[in-house]
Amino acid sequence: MIKFAGSLAKETVVDIKGLIVKAEVKSCTQTDCELSVQRLYVVAKAEVGLPLQIDDASRSEAEIAESERKLAAGEVDGAYVRVGTDTRLDNRVIDMRVPAQNAIFRISSAVCHYFRTALLEKGFVEIHTPKIIAGASEGGAEVFRLKYMENTRFEQPGCLAQSPQLYKQMCIMGDLERVFEVGPVFRAENSHTGRHLTEFTGLDFEMEIKESYREALEVTDEFMVKIFEGIKKNFQHELKIISQQYPFEPMSYNVGPNLRLMYPEGIAMLREAGVKNEDGSELSDFQDISTVQERKLGEMVKNKYGTDFYVLEKFPMEVRPFYTMPCKDDPRYSNSYDVFMRGQEIMSGAQRVHDVELLVEQCKAKGVDPVQHYVDAFRFGAFPHAGGGIGLERVVMLYLGLDNVRKTSLFPRDPTRLTP
Ligand code: ATP
Repeated sequence: MIKFAGSLAKETVVDIKGLIVKAEVKSCTQTDCELSVQRLYVVAKAEVGLPLQIDDASRSEAEIAESERKLAAGEVDGAYVRVGTDTRLDNRVIDMRVPAQNAIFRISSAVCHYFRTALLEKGFVEIHTPKIIAGASEGGAEVFRLKYMENTRFEQPGCLAQSPQLYKQMCIMGDLERVFEVGPVFRAENSHTGRHLTEFTGLDFEMEIKESYREALEVTDEFMVKIFEGIKKNFQHELKIISQQYPFEPMSYNVGPNLRLMYPEGIAMLREAGVKNEDGSELSDFQDISTVQERKLGEMVKNKYGTDFYVLEKFPMEVRPFYTMPCKDDPRYSNSYDVFMRGQEIMSGAQRVHDVELLVEQCKAKGVDPVQHYVDAFRFGAFPHAGGGIGLERVVMLYLGLDNVRKTSLFPRDPTRLTP
């Protein structure tokens, strides 16, 4: 039987009948017992010649670097192989069997689960909005255009939805009161970074508000903390496996309300630290901040307030989309917010305009063609409302302190990858 077992290619699926016996086992997940095999049946043979070795793809960077050091010092004959991102992604099914990678997707599932249950508990309704739409949802160039019903008499231009934004607002106007969606979001952005995909999973919510947009921030605090706490409580096994390959510091956050900074406060902190724009100019209260500046602010917030999770509120109106509600007391600012984890943005949100005149005016000012069905949704009684949109892959990446969003997307889509 040993000869037969030895002839089977790695990753062959087998059924085994045997006895569990006490043993001391090295380099296995089970270290104190093993299977004494009595019968072995092949369920599905694997072909010889795995495109990547799971052992190679499971090693931490520290282990690989140490083996390279030993090789350079002449202590060993060969170093461990480093499996590149493209090899992993081209063979994602095998790559998913790597324990850390497998655990990452279990954490990703958990994030959706806790997001969903936290919102259902708060009376939200899960919705599914269309992803093939007639016009750009967010405006701008980052839209995938397609021919809808090509070669038929119904042919017309169509787009892939850049967010469920307009539709979730329309559902609020339809009196669903509080809605959320977990679904795909398409962005035709030519960004070759570790945090941008051309298709990602949006965790979106929208709700009626009674007094202030801060009600939506309270809800955000609640579901984000439920996500963090749920993973901490129920996914220690997965966290341990991931941290063995990709070591990370646990995220720090408050279990109660989280830190909220006003945008000008954030700018002032950056200015005090001597941060300038790329062209050397001083930071203005009314400009957007770059990713580098965001990260710097995240570091300063961590040092000053001891948290990896915080909210920046009241962004300048200039840098927010047409549907954002301006601040009543100073319309140069808006009732909007971004949420950050470890210095990177994971969510954008705001109170939205529910007044038709103001909406049309803001569309004009921002050079956006108003979508007629959307604008009409606010004509016959409109509820004040606010919400936000989160990127699932980014939340998982940042929670686990990973360096690339491709590790948290099952089959990533980016400007150069459309397969598998
Ligand atoms: P960024 O400034 O990082 O490009 P954005 O301001 O365009 O993001 P929003 O449109 O506000 O992003 O989207 C809300 C959230 O969706 C972001 O905070 C992020 O978590 C996620 N997200 C946005 N674009 C992408 C992308 N291309 N790939 C992965 N996640 C994304």
